[in-house]
Amino acid sequence: DRSVCTPLPVLGRDIRVPLVTGGEVTYAALDYAASAPALQRVWDDVAAYAPYYGSVHRGAGYLSQLSTELFENSRADVAAFLGCREGDQVVFTRSTTDSLNLLAAVLPAGTRVFVFETEHHAALLPWERRADVEVTYLDAPRTPGQAVETLEQALAAREPYGPALVCVTAASNVTGELWPVRELAAAAHAHGARIVVDAAQLVPHQQVDIEELDCDWIAFSGHKLYAPFGAGVLAGRADWLRDADPYLAGGGASRRVGRGASGEVEVDWHEGAARHEAGSPNVIGAYAIASACKALTEEGFDRLAERERQLISAVREGLAAVPGVRVLSLFGPEAPRVGVFSFTVDGWNSSHFAAALSAEYGIGVRDGLFCAHPLVRTLVGGASSADGGCGSDEGAPLNAIRVSFGAGTPDEHVERFVAAVGELVR
Ligand code: PMP
Repeated sequence: DRSVCTPLPVLGRDIRVPLVTGGEVTYAALDYAASAPALQRVWDDVAAYAPYYGSVHRGAGYLSQLSTELFENSRADVAAFLGCREGDQVVFTRSTTDSLNLLAAVLPAGTRVFVFETEHHAALLPWERRADVEVTYLDAPRTPGQAVETLEQALAAREPYGPALVCVTAASNVTGELWPVRELAAAAHAHGARIVVDAAQLVPHQQVDIEELDCDWIAFSGHKLYAPFGAGVLAGRADWLRDADPYLAGGGASRRVGRGASGEVEVDWHEGAARHEAGSPNVIGAYAIASACKALTEEGFDRLAERERQLISAVREGLAAVPGVRVLSLFGPEAPRVGVFSFTVDGWNSSHFAAALSAEYGIGVRDGLFCAHPLVRTLVGGASSADGGCGSDEGAPLNAIRVSFGAGTPDEHVERFVAAVGELVR
């Protein structure tokens, strides 16, 4: 069937791991939502470039020129991948967390920020750090329509009109559900607010077009997009980025530095992306992201999505058939989603269940509150005093198990997972 692709080659697909029951098995990486394995193609591109890398932007030598070109071409490739508009800027950051913190740092004084309590902490927490910004937290909606209504009401209640920003996730890292980004963007704009979309969980699964979504900024991470760790992207409107002080002060961000009449240091900062990329940039990380963007585009998101739909159906039906398994959802079991499911199992501590999947079946999932504590609490119920950190949340009774997959996942991993859940429960 030409409309469905085979799993894309990724690193680590042949790694064998020991089982407590004896023997060993091929590792089933089912934690793509945290970090996806790198595409073989990305790794090959990086390996081919690695011997040539040199200092960027300031070096005079041939390899420096090559690296500078490669870095700037990567920026252009990412802009094309996201469908950036004329005048949009692509800033290379360390991650989605870094991208959203950068945006928080450049908000005009007095900006009103609107954010759903359901967000990943990377999208929930950066705004509050600005003392001159007012944050409105919106309650968890139970339908996509309610999300739009809730935002509409909050925006309508804001007075007087000044700068405002809505921050919303495109696909939840807990439920995998898609949020009505286009409608939320329309609501934001109708009230004179801007919108930033946390696309960390959407970009690996669907073609994202910044113009079509009509959002002002998009943030995502390379390591969830089949590239290695260490690089992310903030793309979108240039004005707030240009008008604010640099995110980091240092070389690369400064165009001219001198001493003023009374001896103080005077700085003339760059206006473009370099303004927020002080220090030596992560050329390899940026190149790897651009390579992943190209690989996914060439493969075709339609074909990738068709294959993912089959895996999603297998997991949805597989989990529904096991008594006591409760899939976490805001918008209902049939809501459009990406390949991310969180669930609890009656009578099981989720950490123990995840540990058993690893030890007995060689399956790598994640357990915890997935850096989205308010959302997981809402979905699992009640309030917990044992919050734990962003990681394993050991001892927290309200944690869940998350399984997530993507372009490199073979059918066998999903089949093994579904069978293992059934066996463990039995
Ligand atoms: N937003 C969402 C929706 C995420 O899933 C994640 C990663 N779990 C982040 C933001 C943060 O990404 P990073 O850790 O790469 O900064």
